[in-house]
Amino acid sequence: MKNKLIYLDYAATTPVDPRVAEKLSQHLTMDGVFANPASRSHMYGWQAEAAVEHARKQVASLLNADTREIVWTSGATEANNLAIKGVAEARQDRGKHLITSHSEHKAVIDCFKYLESKGFEVTWLNPDSNGEVVCEAVRAAIREDTILVSLMHVNNETGAINDVYEIGRILKQKDIIFHIDAAQSAGKLPIDTKTLDADLISTCAHKIYGPKGVGALYVRRRDGFVLPAQIHGGGHERGMRSGTLPTHQIVAMGESFEIAQVCMSDEQSAIFKLKQMFLDELIGQVNFKINGDVTRSISGILNLSFPDKDGQTLLSALPKLAISSGSACTSATMSPSHVLKSMGVGDDCALGALRFSFGRFTTEEDVISAADMLKSVLHRMT
Ligand SMILES: *Cc1c(COP(=O)(O)O)cnc(C)c1O
Repeated sequence: MKNKLIYLDYAATTPVDPRVAEKLSQHLTMDGVFANPASRSHMYGWQAEAAVEHARKQVASLLNADTREIVWTSGATEANNLAIKGVAEARQDRGKHLITSHSEHKAVIDCFKYLESKGFEVTWLNPDSNGEVVCEAVRAAIREDTILVSLMHVNNETGAINDVYEIGRILKQKDIIFHIDAAQSAGKLPIDTKTLDADLISTCAHKIYGPKGVGALYVRRRDGFVLPAQIHGGGHERGMRSGTLPTHQIVAMGESFEIAQVCMSDEQSAIFKLKQMFLDELIGQVNFKINGDVTRSISGILNLSFPDKDGQTLLSALPKLAISSGSACTSATMSPSHVLKSMGVGDDCALGALRFSFGRFTTEEDVISAADMLKSVLHRMT
């Protein structure tokens, strides 16, 4: 099996779990449950509606939420747009100050840049050197006119975990809306909306073995707060998000969330062991630096810098390894990752960064071979 490709890019997307794929395929064809869930006049429609509502229970259950708090979207990008632009629109009469961080996903950063162009004022927090946005930084940025704080639960590049429970407590006291991008944490870390003081939580299916193109926004039910739609149409999803619901996608997302809920803690400890095994293979053998704190980050993500090496060159020397570089290619020039930069990682290290992400189908054999490939490439390059 020497020539096998090894997939270590689970943070970019996961393969669909076969059990989920089976469910999905049962909701497409004439002999399946394929209908428009909004078709109220026949059995086909009622069955599709029942399937969608079952999936809503599965997603709500993972978040310990009420089914009426789940709004289907096309993914976490759309959920983030709906949450952030929606709150800005709904609460602008109270103030125009917003708080987020430099280490967010582009789907959040670009919403805030857009709002800046519309006259909102944004405080951009920096994470600490481990990639965590600390409570004190949030507390210090709060003003009288702050209406929204948006922070991710888990960072997609470093795996750093923000203490959203503590941040939520601070914001609740101040009556500031708290949005969490949980695309990387849903199904991997406990999210309990009964104890987590968040108003809006973005999730998607494709980071947790469901299909791409479907997600959900948790919208806490609270008096006097209505989240204005960003996509207008037939008034689906209690007016918050119009569009015919993709029955097959939603059913698949529900299944992937239910599976995750059942196996979360065992799976996370198994994946942590794989990450540790990978590190053990490298320690003392090659020169590298960990971006983040392994013990305080999500088990599946490991971001490493190889000082004085170029990430892009490393990637092309590792054609059998499916991993991500820590930098982005912007019009022919390489620029270091905005996340690593915000943590204070220098350009020399940021340009030599690689993200390894492990998941449900990663084997010990994959980990050992990947480490071997990496070691031999690095030895050749020195
Ligand atoms: C993947 C990801 C997104 C985007 O989700 P899509 O469903 O692909 O739109 C947003 N935020 C984070 C942190 C992510 O990892």
